[in-house]
Amino acid sequence: MEETKTRNFLEEIIEEDLASGKVDSIMTRFPPEPNGYLHLGHAKSICLNFGLAEKYGGKTNLRYDDTNPTKEDTEYVDAIKEDIHWLGFQWEKELYASDYFDQLYEWAEQMIMRGQAYVDDQTQEEIREGRGTVDKPGKNSPWRDRTPEENLRLFREMKAGKYADGEKVLRAKIDMAHPNMMFRDPLMYRIKHTSHHRTGDKWCIYPMYDFTHGQSDSIEHITHSICTLEFDVHRPLYDWYIQTLGIYPSHQYEFARLNLTYTLMSKRKLLELVQKGLVSGWDDPRMPTLCGVRRRGYTPESLRMFCDKIGVSKRDQLMDIQLLEWCVRQDLNARSNRYMVVQDPIRVHITNWPEGKVEWFDCPLNPADPEGARRRVPFTGELLIDRADFMEDAPKKFFRLRPDGEVRLKYTYIIKCNEVVKDENGVVTELNCTYDPSTHPLTGEWRSVKGTIHWVSAEHAVPVEIRNYDRLFTLADMSAVPEDKDYKDFLNPDSLIVTEGYAEPALPEDRSGIAVQFERTGYYVLDKDSTPEHPVFNKTTALKDSYKPE
Ligand code: ATP
Ligand code: MG
Repeated sequence: MEETKTRNFLEEIIEEDLASGKVDSIMTRFPPEPNGYLHLGHAKSICLNFGLAEKYGGKTNLRYDDTNPTKEDTEYVDAIKEDIHWLGFQWEKELYASDYFDQLYEWAEQMIMRGQAYVDDQTQEEIREGRGTVDKPGKNSPWRDRTPEENLRLFREMKAGKYADGEKVLRAKIDMAHPNMMFRDPLMYRIKHTSHHRTGDKWCIYPMYDFTHGQSDSIEHITHSICTLEFDVHRPLYDWYIQTLGIYPSHQYEFARLNLTYTLMSKRKLLELVQKGLVSGWDDPRMPTLCGVRRRGYTPESLRMFCDKIGVSKRDQLMDIQLLEWCVRQDLNARSNRYMVVQDPIRVHITNWPEGKVEWFDCPLNPADPEGARRRVPFTGELLIDRADFMEDAPKKFFRLRPDGEVRLKYTYIIKCNEVVKDENGVVTELNCTYDPSTHPLTGEWRSVKGTIHWVSAEHAVPVEIRNYDRLFTLADMSAVPEDKDYKDFLNPDSLIVTEGYAEPALPEDRSGIAVQFERTGYYVLDKDSTPEHPVFNKTTALKDSYKPE
């Protein structure tokens, strides 16, 4: 059957533009502000911008939107590049809006000379009040009718550092009664005596977003400038500056931003979690940042699969985080190596096993690839199994181990539980079992039992620290935090539970570089906090879930 996939609205626009000859080839850009680490929302924007260019033989620039020197940092610049590469994309050029400060300044002077911009001495407060409301027109500033010459002199003095922050601004002279508030003499430049991460102290005036973005797109001949819905009100002004300056006509298109259940994607709030120590850092495995999900064991393949599945829409929506987890599972199920790890052990003593004997079983690393690499698993008379796999008064449907019951130990023999040993508090500490030698998986007779459980040999077990992660927040829709509450009130107190586990000896030898499957439990990835003596594993996601994508 042929797979039919409908085109999204951006693909339709691009195909039309190519067919009509409006553009010869397409050029997109990804424009992060280097004021924080990238998150899953950015991954969607990256997959779109780079993905569309790839699909239609075009190119994508990485352009840092660095016009606000107070919040920006080179730490973020480097992290952003690492994250984009990790996702599997390569930009055409690495550019900075600040590279265009000279050009933007020149355009501002041009507009001043043509009577299209003026220096305003009003305070921020006065400017806000003068702007009016949606139903009420604004008032002209008393400084609106300065001559071009006076404006030019004042603007040059602003640039030369003669005025303090907030003392003057440059505004476009459009229409204080315009029905679109954006056109009520928007600010073009403000004074900020702050060093910039790239231009240092060269400038003390900085252009506003609206006076920067469209022109930067235009300079780079971006054909399709894709951004999130909240920018649709900016589009008319974007077009106005480009028309007024008579420069290359880039166009802006908006799509719905990605929101996910049980998490949030505002850099400001994520920064607060980091600064207040509520998470261990930007790369805490619970964070929705790309460095966080990477440390959690999510693969770039799974993120691209997710972005592809959610598609693009024009309406804001809340996506189910289970879809993302499903994608991660799909990818890891196909590729990850399997190991047995016991997290909450009960000792199993095999009473009929020859004292001191070790039998090595040869097992596939990935059952999907039976011809592939293998690992060796030792079986002995002292084993560990997970507490959850034994039940004393088990219901009928419990197919794991029970008193007088049988179970298969994965890859090996069937054992039978003959005696339960408890401590003084009644907690089960040990099970005395016998194994059935005739059930050897290769040489024995085949006999089936209902249950199969994982296990490790006690003497060979490698202790590992296991960090079991869960969702960061307890509220599904984090945009619906009640008025009288703070988003931090919904932090999940059980989002991290640390335990010690016991792994089969092949686990520390794993060199796959991606998360592994702890059989019957979940996917886990080696953490950077590991040392050779003390491996640490992060839970990527559980093995199974009843969730199915539509
Ligand atoms: P935040 O609100 O988290 O600070 P931002 O929009 O200010 O995000 P930018 O660095 O300006 O962050 O974003 C770079 C690009 O990524 C922009 O084009 C922006 O529209 C897009 N983007 C940001 N957040 C999302 C999201 N949740 N879903 C899709 N795209 C997003
Ligand atoms: Mg932004």
